[in-house]
Amino acid sequence: MRLHTRARVLAQLGFVFFMSQAAVHAQLQPVPAQDVAPEPSSGYTEKKAVTAKKFMIATANPHATRAGQEMLKAGGSAVDAAIAAAVMLNLTEPQSSGIGGGAFIVSYDAGQKALNAYDGREKAPASAKGDRFLDAKGKPLPLREAINSGKSVGVPGLLRVMELAHQKHGKLPWAKLFEPTIRLAENGFAVSERLHTVIKLDKTLRANANARAYFYDAAGEPLAVGATLKNPDFAAVLRRVAKEGPDAFYKGEIARDISAAVNGQAQPGGMTLQDIAGYQARERAVLCGAYRAYKVCGMPPPSSGGIAVLAMLGALERFPMSGVRPNSTEAVHLFSEAGRLAYADRDYYVGDPDFVNVPATALVSPEYLKSRSALIRPDVSMKRAAPGVPAGVKLAWAPDEESEIPATSHISVIDPAGNAVSMTTTIEAVFGSHIMVRGFLLNNQMTDFALAPEENGLPVANRIEGGKRPRSTMSPTLVFDADGKLKMTVGSPGGSAIINYVTKTLVGVLDWGLDVQQAISLPNMGSRNRATEVELGSELEKLSGPLKALGHEVQAIEFTSGLQGIVVTPQGLVGGADPRREGFVLGE
Ligand code: GLU
Repeated sequence: MRLHTRARVLAQLGFVFFMSQAAVHAQLQPVPAQDVAPEPSSGYTEKKAVTAKKFMIATANPHATRAGQEMLKAGGSAVDAAIAAAVMLNLTEPQSSGIGGGAFIVSYDAGQKALNAYDGREKAPASAKGDRFLDAKGKPLPLREAINSGKSVGVPGLLRVMELAHQKHGKLPWAKLFEPTIRLAENGFAVSERLHTVIKLDKTLRANANARAYFYDAAGEPLAVGATLKNPDFAAVLRRVAKEGPDAFYKGEIARDISAAVNGQAQPGGMTLQDIAGYQARERAVLCGAYRAYKVCGMPPPSSGGIAVLAMLGALERFPMSGVRPNSTEAVHLFSEAGRLAYADRDYYVGDPDFVNVPATALVSPEYLKSRSALIRPDVSMKRAAPGVPAGVKLAWAPDEESEIPATSHISVIDPAGNAVSMTTTIEAVFGSHIMVRGFLLNNQMTDFALAPEENGLPVANRIEGGKRPRSTMSPTLVFDADGKLKMTVGSPGGSAIINYVTKTLVGVLDWGLDVQQAISLPNMGSRNRATEVELGSELEKLSGPLKALGHEVQAIEFTSGLQGIVVTPQGLVGGADPRREGFVLGE
């Protein structure tokens, strides 16, 4: 069904598919969603690009988009709108993000021509040690076991990072940003199809008494689509945060409840009141690089997103991508080879820059990326890339191949003054740690650390240490044209595949000239330095034969991206939202 629909949409876009006999007969083994990590799929809804003249907001949920739009209409900035939307996502897309988690915000101030990156990544409690996720024999715990425990919870950063961004770029009063969500939490909202589906698919959510009471009906069934869900506990938290600021969350009885919940699990997390009270968001230098005529800017470490998106683009730049057909064997080949190189480096080098020295600039320097690109052969897959060594960098780490189980959300905004935000917000896996406190869920971001701290006696850059931030894949991205004018804001959830989703969309818009909705809707593909992965149910499955002939091991994956993007065109703003989730764009 999906395949049929996709083929039709892309045929309308004028793409012609070449299908060899070998490809038609090639057998692909679908990989179950649970094994490859995506937040479960809940359907595919075709979408058309939205256009507007003055402002635009794109989020993963209609209520959140409306909350952001309400702020923009009231004269709010892009940051104001993003904050209001992020708070609403906690209510209406609770499985993905919220104040129990963290976020990265990349923002552009059009007046100052300034770029800022704000880091609200969760932090390990001070007591966290390298063996946190090892069993009695020193072996890493199964990921699911690690997630559903107090040990997976990091000190939340979302409210602190929104406070920091609001202090710098907010125009509306802080309290106003919470109004739409308090209203809806008290009045109730209809359970969406996606929320219903993810509750239904979750095997352990009901084990938490608060989550059971909230997400299931009296008979113990997942709340039905359309059921009215009210969250007075969450509304009460927001009322206090709106009035008193984030201190109401980080100090006092809410913090006490968080610490008690984390430490009251069968596997306690050791999170103290000092850990929570001491959390600070950080401002970091935005990481930018050139791609053809454009400047592409993203999140520096502790995210690997900025580095790896630039690394993929740098590896692709040698190839005339505008002449490569989307959804062709050649496109998937080049894209997955570029991904192998980028993921090898990010797996090896990236950790919290407050703890490890990440050679971020060297990893995205044009000379280095040229040398990486030279490893791509048009006629055969490299199968597996080793990390490279940029000039002047010494290898000090053991390799690390952790990948995250995703559940996250992305917000893109452009306001009437031309300010832009790209914000990715997360509680890590779907429903985070499954620990619910006062109407919101706590993250499981600690499982984004390497579960094993060392290999063969060498430390892993992303090993767990007290007070450290785990490496992220989130890639909130802003693009500027040759004249320095804002061109695009984009980002996505999707665990370790985020880098591939975002790069696909950038290539779709910048090289293939697609509108941003078409680029978002293109089938997902790529390699995370293992198999070459193509989106299950898309026509890319038919490329399995020709790809195998180039030496690729091919897997079909349920690739539930959640891309949201806005592009500035001479005719105005054009926005797109991911057909794989409940994304929604509004503008004026
Ligand atoms: N925890 C992941 C990260 O920070 C994000 C998970 C997701 O996107 O779903 O990279």
